[in-house]
This record gives sequence, structure tokens and C-alpha cells, in this order.
Amino acid sequence: MPKPEDGLNGIGENLFILRGERLRGRHSGEHPDNLGADLLVAPASTAEAAAVVAWCGANAVPVVPQGGLTGLVGGSVSRPGDAILSSERLNRIERIDAAARLAVVESGVTLQALQEAAAPFGLTPGIDLASRGSATIGGMISTNAGGILAFRNGVMRHQVLGLEAVLPDGTVFSDMTEVVKTSAGPDMKQLLIGAEGAFGFVTRAVLRLEPVRPHRATALLCVPDAGSALRIVDGLLRCPGAQLEAAELMWRRFFLDSARTHGFDLGWLEGDAAAVLLVDLSAETVERATAELEASLETLWSDAGITSGIVAQSLDQARRFRDLREVSDFIYRLHPDAPSFDVSLPQGALDRYVAALDARLAALGLEAYVYGHIADGNLHVSVFGEGAPDAAMRDPIEDAVYAGIGETGGSFSAEHGVGLEKRRAYLAQGNAARRAMAQALKRTLDPKGIFNRGKVPF
Ligand SMILES: Cc1cc2nc3c(=O)[nH]c(=O)nc-3n(C[C@H](O)[C@H](O)[C@H](O)COP(=O)(O)OP(=O)(O)OC[C@H]3O[C@@H](n4cnc5c(N)ncnc54)[C@H](O)[C@@H]3O)c2cc1C
Repeated sequence: MPKPEDGLNGIGENLFILRGERLRGRHSGEHPDNLGADLLVAPASTAEAAAVVAWCGANAVPVVPQGGLTGLVGGSVSRPGDAILSSERLNRIERIDAAARLAVVESGVTLQALQEAAAPFGLTPGIDLASRGSATIGGMISTNAGGILAFRNGVMRHQVLGLEAVLPDGTVFSDMTEVVKTSAGPDMKQLLIGAEGAFGFVTRAVLRLEPVRPHRATALLCVPDAGSALRIVDGLLRCPGAQLEAAELMWRRFFLDSARTHGFDLGWLEGDAAAVLLVDLSAETVERATAELEASLETLWSDAGITSGIVAQSLDQARRFRDLREVSDFIYRLHPDAPSFDVSLPQGALDRYVAALDARLAALGLEAYVYGHIADGNLHVSVFGEGAPDAAMRDPIEDAVYAGIGETGGSFSAEHGVGLEKRRAYLAQGNAARRAMAQALKRTLDPKGIFNRGKVPF
């Protein structure tokens, strides 16, 4: 690999370059191999980023775009010989236009920083993730992130109005559109959304903002199955004086182990709940939200088959309810290296899928935690039991998790991407026509194959 002295140091006045031990001394985020490269470069402007990419192209140095390193499929993994292109210094919120309900940001801005900057205007990004403190806008665009609010606002793709990126040949693609409607030929920026850094490095974006409704009522409801949870979701979506902000379902094993590790009191729980639904409703005041929630639940209780439930009596209690679902690292403390998946299915297929999944895993002597964003059919699955993390079990477990999903019209990867971890699934489960088109685009945009080489298979 050429030394940065061979030209990289001449780019910009303050180009940030990190190498060797100083690079490896950093926190590697969600994947232990994220910082395997020899070199990290952090440009402070689009022009600097373009010059760095051109240098990498001229010197045949593979480029690994990185944001907050919260990605869960190894898309940011880097190896010796790679150059990490980090968005950490592209961290300016350029503008919040309250009247137009949009923000212009650089790609290294974290979701939480944007949430905090938009809050004084009574606005918020329409996407929310538990990794909000570190996940960046560039990473969220590149993974087409989903999260808690996707059932209402759509995924990241639906929040992006405009986008700027450095393409693999070092040219700048700029389409900083600020309007929702543009029917001016193919919308090329869409190609960079969900491309996991294979088609270029996102530098700036224009994002829609939504009105924030901070006054919430939160409840935990025991239900017999996903069908019941979805009847509750439907009822709450129709609630005239309030808005549904979250609907997260935790199947029994996940809920009980989460409650135990969080020291959460289960005195209110009656009977053998198959699953517990967390719902969050917002209104003009907390009192109104609580009244709307209680009135809706009274109507829905027997129709939806709710067996017991509890409404939070304070902000602190509501936070503890949410932590049961959001703070899920207990999984890896109890079951280190548990293989984890992120699938989506049409609503009508969820209960059949979970029952069949349990049976397939039981045949392998394994179990799973199942939980997720139920209102858009997105399930997270973490598999555990003797031998679950072993390499020999990898394919049988994947086959058990993915069986039948394609036929239902679902997806083997709902919101986390393909990265390194889901390569086999992309090739085995993915749509062949989509794969062929993605490869053709990759050959056009990145003929030298320098962006995220050997990982995301497009
Ligand atoms: C606790 C926790 C909860 C989570 N919850 C959710 C959730 O609810 N929904 C959800 O969708 N995800 C969730 N995630 C996953 C993760 O937060 C998202 O995938 C997020 O979008 C990644 O952003 P990042 O900045 O950390 O990107 P990174 O992890 O740094 O990178 C992810 C991918 O994007 C590419 N990339 C990063 N920045 C750029 C850029 N500027 N230009 C081009 N490519 C780039 C990388 O090469 C890599 O392929 C969660 C993760 C954790 C740890």
C-alpha cells in the first residue's frame, strides 16, 4: 500500500489521518474487525472526500466507508490494505428549515444530534433507532435503516429528499433536492440509499422532519400471538385523539429474560403470556395520551385477546418499559455469539412463521429469542442453545430461519443490510433480477471494484 506521504497528506489543510496502533486503539463498534485497515482518513468536506477517493482509485487502495460503526452485518469491516473513509468530521447540521420541515446535514451527524437540534423547532427525524447516539445519517442512508417509526413514516429512503455523494471515480454526485415531488427522470440518488457503501460515499443529505409529539402514554400488554398484537395496533392507529408512536412485540423467552436481567417486576403479569406488546401513544398532553390509551384498551381488551397489561404511571416507569425492548445486549451476555437475524414478513404470515421457526430450531436442539417492530412485520431472531455459534451450525440455522420467507413476500434482511454476514443469504435468498441489476450498476459506477470490496456482494 502506498504511504499517505505519497500524496494523501497534500489534500486539504486538516485532513485527519490515523494509522497503526492509534487506529487500533479506538473502539471498534459493533464488529470486532471494523478497524482492521492500516489507514483511516476523515475528510472535513466533500472536496476533501473526493480527493481522498481519487487518491485511493489512483493507488488501487480499497475504500471502506464508515459512519458510527453500529451496523449489525459487518458492512464496515476493514482489512489490512484497505483505507477507512470515515464521516466523523462531516458532522455539521447546516440548516433546519422549520417551515419546510427539513434539515440539511452532513453525513457524519448522528441521529441523536439531529433529534436534539430539531427538537426546539418541535420537529424530529421520522426515523428512530435504539442506536441513535452513534448511528450516523450517512450510515442510516446506506443501510436504508428502518426502526421504531417505519410503520408510520416508512424507512430512511422515504425521509431522504436530497443527497450528495462521492462516487468511486472521485466525482461528486449532487442532488440536494428539497421537495418531495420530483418527476424529472429516474431518481438516481435512490441507488445510493441502501447500497451499503458499495456505490459511493454519502457526504450530505436533505432530510424530511416530522412534528414531534413528546407527551406519551406507554403500556405493556400480554397477548396470545402476533395476530392479537396487530389487532391492537390497528385499533390504536384509528384512535382519533392520539398517535401511535411505537408497537414492539417481544415473544415470551425474550420478554422473560429481558425482564429478569433488567430486574423488572412481573407482579402484574397473569397467566402464560405468549408475547408482550409495548405500545407508545402520543397526544397534546400526557393526561390526554393516557386517557386515549386507556379508553382504546377498554374497547380492544377482549376482542384483541389481551390477558393482562400495565400502563406506565411515570416517565421513569415508561423508560423502564422501553428499556425492556431496546436494551437487548443481555442476549449476548447470556448467549455469547448467538447468531442473529433480521427478517420481515407480511402481517398475515407472522404467527405461522414463528411457530414453524420454533419447530425447525427445536429439531436442531435450539431455541430463539424473537422480538421486533411488529407493525411492519419486522422480526429480530437470535438463536441459542448448545453449539449455536459453531461454524458447522451456521448453514442449518440460516436455513431454519430463512425457510419460506421469500414465498410469503417477505425479506431475509429487513433493515440491517447484507454486509459481510448476510452474503450467503443474499446469494441464496435474494432476488436474482435485483442481483443482476445491482452487479451491472456496480460495474458501471465502480469498475475497479474499490468500494467495500469483498463484502456486500454488489
Ligand atoms: C442497539 C442497536 C439498535 C439498532 N436498531 C436498529 C433499528 O431499529 N433499525 C435499523 O435499521 N438498524 C438498527 N441498528 C443497526 C444500525 O444502527 C444501522 O444499520 C445504522 O443505520 C448504521 O449506521 P452507522 O452510522 O453506525 O453505519 P456503519 O455501521 O458505520 O456502516 C454501516 C454500513 O454503511 C456504510 N456506510 C457508513 N457510512 C457511510 C457513508 N457516509 N457513505 C456510504 N456508506 C456508508 C458502511 O460501509 C457499512 O456498509 C441497530 C444497531 C444497534 C447497535
